[in-house]
Amino acid sequence: MKFYSTNGKSDGVTFLEAAETGLAPDGGLYMPDSLPKLSLPFNDPESAAGLTLQEISKQAARPFLSDSLSINEIDDLIDDAITMEAPLVKLRDDLFVLELFHGPTLAFKDFGARFMARLFSKHRSESEKDLIILVATSGDTGGAVASGFYDLDGVHVCLLFPKGKVSDIQRKQMTTLGKNITALEIEGTFDDCQRLVKQAFSDGNLNTTLRLSSANSINVARLLPQTFYYLTAYFQLKEFTDKDPVFVVPSGNFGNLTAGLMAEKMGMPVTAFVAATNRNDVVPEYLLGSEFLPRMSVQTISNAMDVGNPSNFERIRALFDGDDTSIRQHIKGYSFSDEDTRIMIRKVYDEYDYVADPHTAVGLLAAEKYSKDFDDRSPIIVLSTAHASKFLDVVENEIDSKVSIPERLAKATRRGEKSHPMSSEYSELKKMLLKTYGI
Ligand SMILES: *Cc1c(COP(=O)(O)O)cnc(C)c1O
Repeated sequence: MKFYSTNGKSDGVTFLEAAETGLAPDGGLYMPDSLPKLSLPFNDPESAAGLTLQEISKQAARPFLSDSLSINEIDDLIDDAITMEAPLVKLRDDLFVLELFHGPTLAFKDFGARFMARLFSKHRSESEKDLIILVATSGDTGGAVASGFYDLDGVHVCLLFPKGKVSDIQRKQMTTLGKNITALEIEGTFDDCQRLVKQAFSDGNLNTTLRLSSANSINVARLLPQTFYYLTAYFQLKEFTDKDPVFVVPSGNFGNLTAGLMAEKMGMPVTAFVAATNRNDVVPEYLLGSEFLPRMSVQTISNAMDVGNPSNFERIRALFDGDDTSIRQHIKGYSFSDEDTRIMIRKVYDEYDYVADPHTAVGLLAAEKYSKDFDDRSPIIVLSTAHASKFLDVVENEIDSKVSIPERLAKATRRGEKSHPMSSEYSELKKMLLKTYGI
């Protein structure tokens, strides 16, 4: 399978090459030329009973990776990376939560980050030069990538996060590991961090000296493992109902939603997708009929979704061949304020005894709104993207009860922190990269 740039001006490459390059040379994002139809038993759920996430993942990964790796290597990669589960929890007969926070850093990004880290550390195309992974993060990506790559051979990670705009726990997950993980605290917003990373990738001079790659959701190696849990959600749902689901996806950079659309193209039946955002509502506005107008992000309590220029939107357009009308038919979008989000955290706790993090709460709000607007009686699956303990202050305030902190998170809070303060000037980043990683 070949991968092409959404800008259409770069040559086709293999999955491994697309993953190592990150952004295509013409500045576009890599997408597969076509999506394989999986031979999973979508229309025969009975024979799917007992199909594990790992087995589903292997079947989904093989067509993408078979140009670069053997079947055994692909299967080993999955066994090594996809070690956490993604259970579907029923709140009501027609409302489910897909818990994606059972990995080491308690957010769905562990799926992409662990998969990518193990791919890079074992299967680099040229092994002489170390790979430097540059990551802009609004909070959760940094921790997941740091944990996924920590102490692996031949790869260094350099994280850029906006100063004062990530939670304490998110910051600690990035700044306490050390070894091959370096954290840069940027004086600016997430959009500044993202701009700096993009600038580094398009700096020809820097790229002749260093082998840079990205672990942001612009990287196709993060998207693929995110299709796995949509597929497993579909089969888990069949134990409750034979109706096809609506997926509600709390969204920021829209990588997660893109992965859902890819899973659908790979054969998974879906009624609709719902994009749930906080006040950073560029995509919901577009879905309502206005133009796609990126703008500065604003800070909210669901900070992993504070994105003003969602980069994966290009991919969504590519999946629909640029047809705005069918995008708007198939994807609905809603945005909510922090106040709405707090109310939902309280409501879902009172009604279902379920503790939702702020991102999941935004998803639950969108689910509620969708079922009011569209009476299609499909079961709704809300993707729960993070564990509530990552947003302790916000959540405990609403539910008047203590949220238990899993040990793997508590451990990070006890270690010493180390990070480098930096302005949002590109020249400063470049100097630092050359000094740290150059020869
Ligand atoms: C990253 C993140 C999101 C947004 O996901 P995208 O793929 O960028 O749309 C939502 N919730 C949490 C908890 C996240 O970490």
